[in-house]
Amino acid sequence: MIQVRNMSKYFDEFEALRDVTLDVHRSEVLCLIGPSGSGKSTLLRCLNFLEAYDGGEVLLEGELIGWKSAGASPRKALSGEALRRQRQHIGMVFQQFNLWPHLTALENVAEALIHVKGLGKKQAHEKARAALAKVNLSDKEKNYPANLSGGQQQRVAIARAIAMEPSVMLFDEPTSALDPELVGEVLSVMKEMANEGMTMVVVTHEMGFAAHVADRVAFLDSGRLVTCVPPAEIFGQVPEDPRVRAFLQTYR
Ligand code: ADP
Ligand code: MG
Repeated sequence: MIQVRNMSKYFDEFEALRDVTLDVHRSEVLCLIGPSGSGKSTLLRCLNFLEAYDGGEVLLEGELIGWKSAGASPRKALSGEALRRQRQHIGMVFQQFNLWPHLTALENVAEALIHVKGLGKKQAHEKARAALAKVNLSDKEKNYPANLSGGQQQRVAIARAIAMEPSVMLFDEPTSALDPELVGEVLSVMKEMANEGMTMVVVTHEMGFAAHVADRVAFLDSGRLVTCVPPAEIFGQVPEDPRVRAFLQTYR
């Protein structure tokens, strides 16, 4: 579904990603873990080209996102139009929910259906209702964000992404901004999505989720992909790599 080939990324002189090669298979849940500053968010943002990478390439279902580094200049990036089209296939959920404060839950979910997909209001609202039902928020469609808990707001943000019918969902620490008692409701919605076969890349510090829901767990350290293996190989035994071992010790 996604192929990342030899990706590198610099912020000025600073090497944020070095030679990262990674595949994400269809219907797979890939959890991305690693220390703070290791490049997890940068990698996720490069996947949908929110961040331009400097070397390598990303393919989504075989189609290039961004540009080929081999001899090509950044100006060969996709046209805005092609990029917009591709991004519709990639849903993204951030730590901060980024809902419109002046729109209800239903309107927040319907907004992109109307303004990006070009649906009429009635059809957009129908799809938005179905998406809210999937995150168990049918009873809150008229609430404004200020009248929703953090967990509910994040579920609206997930519904907003689902409504666009993406082929892949990217999550960047979706529960990190939540009070501990609200984490579970968001993780369980994500687990349901996984069970329904959604392809997901999840940056998370929730090791229980990574251990139980992920098909594979990728560990990043200093911009390098250290390992990408089934969770049992990381959580079920003492990891071989000292960096992975040290990282996991902070969670015990
Ligand atoms: P993580 O998500 O794993 O905590 P990030 O991908 O956010 O890490 O950041 C990786 C490294 O790149 C960090 O050292 C961070 O300071 C640096 N970085 C991230 N974004 C920028 C930016 N826009 N400008 C300069 N440095 C950045
Ligand atoms: Mg991050």
